[in-house]
Amino acid sequence: MDEETQPVQPGAEHVVCARCGTAAPDGTAPPTWSCSVENGSRHYLCDDCARAHIRAIESRLDSTWW
Ligand SMILES: [Zn+2]
Repeated sequence: MDEETQPVQPGAEHVVCARCGTAAPDGTAPPTWSCSVENGSRHYLCDDCARAHIRAIESRLDSTWW
């Protein structure tokens, strides 16, 4: 039998920032990271990139709205 019990939980892949490639310290996204699901796959942004991303979204919304 080559089936082994692995401690790895489903979906516990290494979390990496989708923008700058920074790896999460514990392998899981800290609460300060933002997570978005696109096409069924998760995309994480570190807190710095999330902030920049949110600003970009807000400014884009702003110019769209006005
Ligand atoms: Zn980042």
